[in-house]
Parts: sequence; C-alpha cells; structure tokens
Amino acid sequence: MPPAHPFDDDKLREECGVFGVIGVSDAANFVALGLHALQHRGQEAGGIVSHAPKVGFNSARRFGYVRDNFTKASLMETLPGPLAIGHVRYSTAGSKGNTAIRDVQPFFGEFSMGGAAIAHNGNITNADALRRELIERGSIFQSSSDSECIIHLMARSLQKSIPERMKDALRRCEGAFSVVAMTRTKLIGVRDPLGVRPLVLGQLGDGWALASETCALDIIGAEFVREIAPGEMVVVTEEDGVQSYFPFERRASRFCIFEHVYFSRPDSIIDGRSVYDTRRMIGVELAKESPVDADLVCPVPDSGTPAAIGFSQESGIPYAMGIIRNQYMGRTFIEPTEQIRNMGVRLKLNVNRALIKGKRVILVDDSVVRGTTSRKIKEMILDAGAAEVHFRIASPPTSWPCFYGVDTPEREKLLAATMSEEEMRDHLGVNSLKFISLDGLYRAAGVAEGRDPGAPRYCDACFSGEYPVAPSDMLEKGFQLRTAAE
Ligand code: SF4
Repeated sequence: MPPAHPFDDDKLREECGVFGVIGVSDAANFVALGLHALQHRGQEAGGIVSHAPKVGFNSARRFGYVRDNFTKASLMETLPGPLAIGHVRYSTAGSKGNTAIRDVQPFFGEFSMGGAAIAHNGNITNADALRRELIERGSIFQSSSDSECIIHLMARSLQKSIPERMKDALRRCEGAFSVVAMTRTKLIGVRDPLGVRPLVLGQLGDGWALASETCALDIIGAEFVREIAPGEMVVVTEEDGVQSYFPFERRASRFCIFEHVYFSRPDSIIDGRSVYDTRRMIGVELAKESPVDADLVCPVPDSGTPAAIGFSQESGIPYAMGIIRNQYMGRTFIEPTEQIRNMGVRLKLNVNRALIKGKRVILVDDSVVRGTTSRKIKEMILDAGAAEVHFRIASPPTSWPCFYGVDTPEREKLLAATMSEEEMRDHLGVNSLKFISLDGLYRAAGVAEGRDPGAPRYCDACFSGEYPVAPSDMLEKGFQLRTAAE
C-alpha cells in the first residue's frame, strides 16, 4: 500500500471513485482505465468485479495504484465479460489508514435471485446504528466499511428483484452515497436524495458507462450523456438501455461545493459546469474581494493553478510558476534519513529562486486545513528572497469536519476552527492572508446572487457548519453541532 506523504496530510481527501460499464467486450479493461482516470479520488486500493455468461462473477481487489495492478494481462484475463464495476478508495469510514483487503470494494452478495456487487462513494452517516441493528438480527459482517450495510439491508429485504431490494436498502441509509452496482445482467447507478457526491452517465457505442466524473468517460472514449439526478436510480441493460426511477422523497440538491474547489479533476464537467472554469472564476472573485499590490501571482501546484490564473486575469498582476512541483516524487519514495523526512514539502515542491528573489508574491492555494504545508511553503518562498508573501485561498476557512465521504482531521486540528483570520495570518507568518467568502465561492460556482442562507444550493458544511443531513452516528459519539452563538 502506498504510504501517505507528509504533504498529503494537510489536504482534505476525497475517499472514493466509482466506475461501471455494460455492453462492451472485456468490460473490466474499460473499468481499469476509468479507475485510472479517477485515481485522484483514492490511491490506497482498488477493486473490479466482472460478470460473463457461463463464467459467472469474478473479482480482484488489490492495494496500490490501478496502473500497478490492473494492467497485468494475467490478472485482467480473470475478469472476463461485458459487464464490470470498479472502485478506488482512500480509507473511508472503515479502518482508516489501516485498510484490510476485506475493506476494499466492490462488495459482493449472493441472493436468492442471483449475485450483486456494489461500489460506493460517500459515507453513510447512520452506519453505526444500522450495523448494530443488523448484527442483532443475525448479519455477519466481513469488513469494517459502512458500505457493507447496503448488502446486508438488501439481504433482509423481501422484494423480488435486486434493484427493488437496493431501493429498500438505500431508503434506510442516511448521508451521502453515489453507488454503482451490478447484477448478472444489469448495471445500476444511484445517487442519494441530496446528490452530495457526483455520478455521471456516458455512452460508448452500444454500451453504457457510469462514473464519478466525466474525465473517466473521456479516457475510454465514451460520450457524456448526463448526470444522474439527485435521488435517481438508473438500471441499465443491454436490451432496454437506461431505465430511470426516483425511489426517494424528492429533496433540493446539495451537491458538495468542495468538488468544485479541489476534489474533482479540472477537466471534468461536474454539476453542469467546467471544474476548471469554476476554479478560474474563484480566482477572479478572490481578486475582486481581496486585492493586494504585488509583483507576481503564483499557484501552489497543482490545485491552486486555475484560481491563480483567474486572480492574475482579474488583477492584471503577472502569473508565474514560482513553485515547481516534482512530478516524479511518488508516494512510494523511501525517505532515507530523519533529516530528509523533516524536509517534507521540499521533497515535492521547489521554489523558482531566480523568479522569486526580491518580489512581492501572491500565493494562491485551494485550502488551508492544518496549516502545516502553508507555513513550510511560506518559509521556502522567503528563503528564496521574496520581499513579501500574500496568501489568497480559493475556499472559505475550513472549520468543520466533513461526514459525507471526505477525510477531515478532527475539528480541533483544523486551523480555522481555533483561530481567527488575523491569528492564522500571524501563525503562518505571512504579510496578508485572505480567504474567498462563501458568497464569492457561490458566485464562482454559478449562483450569481451568492449563497441563499435559507436554501443553500450546495453542501458547504465544512465552511458553514450547517450539515444538510444530521450526522447521527457522530452526534451519538458526542460531536457538537454549531451553536447559535458561533
Ligand atoms: S462538508 Fe464540505 S467536503 Fe463534505 S460534502 Fe459538504 S462541502 Fe463537501
């Protein structure tokens, strides 16, 4: 399993990507490519389940990158058939950072009407309560993953078909779920009623694909058809194409706004918008809200790049690559000495000294989580002789944890949960620090009037503390929701 690099400890991390395809020969090879395009959503492990008539279901689950496992002919030959689904994960609500292979999805269940496999992106916020109930009623869990609850709930349903059982099961689940599942003949996609996590539909000749992001459709040459709507279930067969159902009570969409800021790839179309363009517009809004006199606008690579371009376009201050990322600094690098381990960020990023010396530099980053990386980057820039360092951050202060499928430190470890903006500026030791406002972020994401406090268009709980679904397991464990005074 690739060990986490110190640089990655200071980012929120998307925990999963899902992909499925039906109606093509050797579907598993397409799934492997799709998962490769979704690798940014989870690097710890991946799995593929396929089905072929006469052969039945086959599965392979491995630690590590997709390219290191699902490119081997000897493995891919064991996954034949025209129907397959797959999953990449960072550790989710299961054994975080200590994954066992049994926690790696897709999960498989054998039912009286045949088998089914499930891959889940998101987090079921009442999974602890469901698991307790299911265990009391005799279910035997194989993993520590919240997603396995779906299989056990399906096993207990009295419905006569797998899609109907899945509807029953998911109606019991709270929180965020984008699910890709398969039976012997059907590819199934479901999004939770709020549509917190993404899921899109594509067409590939006579076949169909479901993916977390459109970039995974592009890699297999599939045409983007549409997004799966919040609360929608699609059942896709080779004979009848796509059938659509709405098994949940209709609710207003609350898509994750952080997908726009950081999680999704900039070349994806998410929530009907180009992610790159939204990020560029965040930079435009930031420059309007928090201008500063300076010589250069530099991104913290790679995620700060589109916002830095937007900031430069709006402010007229030249854009420059002041920090260079070592593209070949993989997570598997073994740091031989304590001294090198302590260098942390320097192993991955280096300052372009000739450019920075004597300059007043605006650094644009996507977020500040613990603040450890921001401090080190500031030191590197000052060491290189910068005259001033100004941070501009393409998201509001992250002061609340996410319970919907994103790995976040405990609340007290989030810098913005314990410090004001001025205190953070002093803590980071920079000349100025400004975050985009929530209204500015909404404007950049296409909501011209900004955030409607009565009916926000997006989930923004990690910034606002307003959770669109009560995180019931966490409340039971003592988590305190935002009070009126905060
Ligand atoms: S809490 Fe933040 S990261 Fe989590 S779903 Fe909501 S906006 Fe996205």
